[in-house]
Amino acid sequence: MTVLIIGSGPSGPQVALSALERGRPVTMIDVGFSGADVPLPEESYTTLKNRHPDPVGYFLGEDCRGAEIPAQSGQDGGEFYRLPPSKDHVFRPARPFRLHLDGLTPLVSFASGGLAECWTAGAYPFNDDDLAEFPFGYDDLAPHYAKVAERVGVAGEADDLARFLPAHDNLAAPIALDASSQALLRRYDRRRARLNTRHAARMGRSRQAALSAPLGDRGGCTQCGRCLWGCPTGALYTPSITLRDCLKNPLFTYVPGQYASHFTVGVDGDLNGLVTLPCDGGAAQNHRGEAFVLACGTLNSSAIFLRTIWTQRKEIVRLGGLMDNRQVLAPFLNLSMLGRPLDPASYQYHQLATGLPQDNPAHYVHGQITMFSSGAMHPLIQQLPLALRPAGRIMTEIRSGLGVLNLNFHDERRPTNYLTLDPADDAQQPALKIYYRPRAQEADAIGGAMKSMRRFFRDLGAPIIPGMTRLRPMGSSVHYAGTLPMSREAREFTVSPDGQSRDFANLYVVDGSVLPFLPAKNLTFTLMANATRIASRIF
Ligand SMILES: Cc1cc2nc3c(=O)[nH]c(=O)nc-3n(C[C@H](O)[C@H](O)[C@H](O)COP(=O)(O)OP(=O)(O)OC[C@H]3O[C@@H](n4cnc5c(N)ncnc54)[C@H](O)[C@@H]3O)c2cc1C
Ligand code: SF4
Repeated sequence: MTVLIIGSGPSGPQVALSALERGRPVTMIDVGFSGADVPLPEESYTTLKNRHPDPVGYFLGEDCRGAEIPAQSGQDGGEFYRLPPSKDHVFRPARPFRLHLDGLTPLVSFASGGLAECWTAGAYPFNDDDLAEFPFGYDDLAPHYAKVAERVGVAGEADDLARFLPAHDNLAAPIALDASSQALLRRYDRRRARLNTRHAARMGRSRQAALSAPLGDRGGCTQCGRCLWGCPTGALYTPSITLRDCLKNPLFTYVPGQYASHFTVGVDGDLNGLVTLPCDGGAAQNHRGEAFVLACGTLNSSAIFLRTIWTQRKEIVRLGGLMDNRQVLAPFLNLSMLGRPLDPASYQYHQLATGLPQDNPAHYVHGQITMFSSGAMHPLIQQLPLALRPAGRIMTEIRSGLGVLNLNFHDERRPTNYLTLDPADDAQQPALKIYYRPRAQEADAIGGAMKSMRRFFRDLGAPIIPGMTRLRPMGSSVHYAGTLPMSREAREFTVSPDGQSRDFANLYVVDGSVLPFLPAKNLTFTLMANATRIASRIF
């Protein structure tokens, strides 16, 4: 059976590797934009500023765009850092793809490796509470979390958060903590008994797809502080690493530069080909396969599915149930760090996490804690409720203790949130239309969780800074899911528990489209584990 996979984000290469391990020939179709190599890999964030031949161009961009303050509203609303110019290729648009937006502004990637070429690597397993609406439980997924952890390297510890984050096999030793995270965790440990009596919230290490020690040809984390711009050692996992592993196998063919438009359908109702549009122009191409795998992210996989129905039946249908996590950013000040010098030589992303249980266990609220160790500070300075000069002075004093809590809230499938095609203009391809409205109970859930977290952080000696909490706009979490859900019941526009489409028997869907519920935990580790699980069952 020849397997044709579309997309090289986190999900696609995991399926490909599993299929290759079982001796199946695999072709991967991808738009696959790529960026420049990481410059001067031996330098740290600080030394790179001096030794890079064009530090302004590298850190701020040729037009100094990186020096702009992110907008206070819209998609960038209230952000505390910008994605750097070295990651521009991740968000380069692919020409035929157009969006009509109503209520959710997504990030979409056509890069080789997808969105996770610039993710922050949070890798959290779902537990049985998170999986209550899935057609399988944690025990079914656990071997696949372990398999993915072995392949990509997931660091963490079985600590107070293990109650929410199961300690799967192959969890590697955690990366050394930055000074502020270390101080905060020490304080939590010292006061654990009191904190655990007074608060429902728990704190511990976050889980990262990043290596504390070398794995294969990847180096361990050297604490160079360059995570945001691109990891020079390969310690921070990106899907292009697994793609590289696939490319070593002679049964694997990678076909970048092709935008997948739709499938063609045979008289028996099965798919018999994929039509692509070459990104550099030219005639449409047809690619044959026996099993077809959609792994190009919820929005693009759904768009290909919708266009297939549109070209086959001249029908425009709706895929209901679109989900995304609401996120709240709450900057805090770790008072124990005041007066201590800033050390930018550290891992840059979240190293600690919080868990806040709710009456309904599936509504658990998940938090990631990131210290502002390196990176541009001007967006934060601008958002302090002070004039620029005093804000800059104060920032220098307190910078080593500044951090941000990123709270994530669950979402559930509602038919009123959907994806469809919008043929309202005469372009060759109809646009993908997104319609989304938040849950009615959202404000109460956020208010309740923030109240709990303000008290918890105050008792931790790290008060949340008044007036700086930001509600991120829908789409910012980049956790889109739910439009072709796995279900036991056979219904149109669903897939079986093994990801097999109920509409086309030789189509499998392995990305976020298939999630029947979206817990608060970042979903990508589960996307990879589920893709591996599906591959183990069908190939
Ligand atoms: C800044 C940032 C931080 C993040 N941090 C985290 C985190 O800490 N933890 C976490 O769990 N998640 C995080 N995410 C989200 C994570 O990146 C996504 O969940 C994940 O990348 C989705 O994987 P995917 O396989 O569905 O595909 P995507 O990453 O969306 O990749 C899509 C792939 O399909 C290809 N493709 C798309 N359409 C077509 C087409 N029509 N034809 C051909 N090829 C196509 C693209 O080229 C690409 O290779 C973050 C995202 C961002 C942007
Ligand atoms: S993970 Fe971050 S800190 Fe560690 S080596 Fe890579 S870029 Fe440097």
